[in-house]
Amino acid sequence: TDETAETAAAPSSLPGWTHTYSGKVRDLYVPESPSDGEDDVVLVVASDRISAYDHVLPTPIPDKGRILAAMSLWWFDRLADLVGNHVVSTDVPDAVAGRAMVCRRLEMYPVECVARGYLTGSVLAEYRATGSVAGHELPEGLRDGDRLPEPIFTPATKAEIGEHDENIDLGRVAAMVGPDVAEELRTTTLAVYTRAAALAAEAGILLADTKLEFGAVPDVGGRPGAAVVLGDEVLTPDSSRFWAAATWEPGRPQPSYDKQYVRDFLTSADSGWDRASDAPPPPLPDHIVDRTRARYLEAYEHLTGRRLAARKAPAR
Ligand code: ATP
Ligand code: MG
Repeated sequence: TDETAETAAAPSSLPGWTHTYSGKVRDLYVPESPSDGEDDVVLVVASDRISAYDHVLPTPIPDKGRILAAMSLWWFDRLADLVGNHVVSTDVPDAVAGRAMVCRRLEMYPVECVARGYLTGSVLAEYRATGSVAGHELPEGLRDGDRLPEPIFTPATKAEIGEHDENIDLGRVAAMVGPDVAEELRTTTLAVYTRAAALAAEAGILLADTKLEFGAVPDVGGRPGAAVVLGDEVLTPDSSRFWAAATWEPGRPQPSYDKQYVRDFLTSADSGWDRASDAPPPPLPDHIVDRTRARYLEAYEHLTGRRLAARKAPAR
C-alpha cells in the first residue's frame, strides 16, 4: 500500500470513530456510538499534509503528522502547571497511531491567541505605518526580525480555509468572549510564550511568535467546566515561527526553520507557480520533501532531546 497517501488523506472512518471535520492539516473524529461520558471527546489526527501561502500542497511530508503530534504532547506536559489542556489519552486506532490524541471536546473561542517576541510577519506593515502593533506602542526604528522589548499579545480572528486571519485588538476580543475570559486568554498566552521561548532557547531555537487556540470545557454530568483550556496543537512549526538562533539576523526576513525549502521552491522559477494566481501549487520534488522532513525531525529532536519512535507496524 502507499503509506504516504494513507497519512495524507483523512480516513472516512476509523474503528469506533466517525469523521466530522478536516482542516488544512488535522482531521477530527467523534465516537461512533458514544457510551456514557464519551460524547464529550474528539479524536484529533495530525495528517502529513503541509500548507504554504494559505494552500494545502498536493505532496505530503512523510512522518510530519507523527512529529507534530509528538511535539504538541511534549509541550502540553511542559505547560501543564500553567494551563490545563485537552488531551485525554493517546490510546488510538492503529491506522493513526503516533499522530492522534483523544481530547476533551472544547467549545473553542473564535480567537487565534498570538504572542510575539519578535517583530515580523503580518504586523510589520502596521508597525511601519503607525509605530504600534495591536495597541502596543513600540520603540522607533525596529527592523524585520528585531526582538521586542517584551512579548506582546496580538489576537486575530479565525479565518476560513484560504483566507488570511485578521488582527484585532483586546477590545474586540472582550466583545466576543467577555472581559474576564479575554484577560485570561491574554495572560495565559503570554505565560505560555515566555515559558516556551525559554525552553526553545536552551536548544538554540528562537521562538519568534506562536498561535494558541483555547476553548471552554462545558459543564457535563456535574463535572465543573473550565473557562480557559488549551486545545488544538501547540508550539509546532505549523503554529509558530522557529528561527535558528545561530543565523538570526534582523533587517531581513528570517529563514523559516522547516518550511523554507518548500517556500523557496514554490517561489522559484522551477516550480512554474504564480503565487498571485488562482492556480493550486504544484507537487513538490522528492529532494524538497526529503529535506523538509529532515528539518521537521531535527526541530523535534533538538527541542525535546528525543528520537521519534519507530513507526508502529500495521496490524495484519
Ligand atoms: P489551520 O490550518 O489554519 O490551523 P484549521 O484550524 O481549520 O486550519 P486544523 O488545525 O487542521 O484546521 O484542524 C483542527 C481543528 O480542530 C481546528 O478548527 C480547531 O479549532 C479544532 N479543535 C482543536 N482542538 C479541539 C477540541 N479539543 N475540541 C473541539 N475542536 C477542537
Ligand atoms: Mg488550526
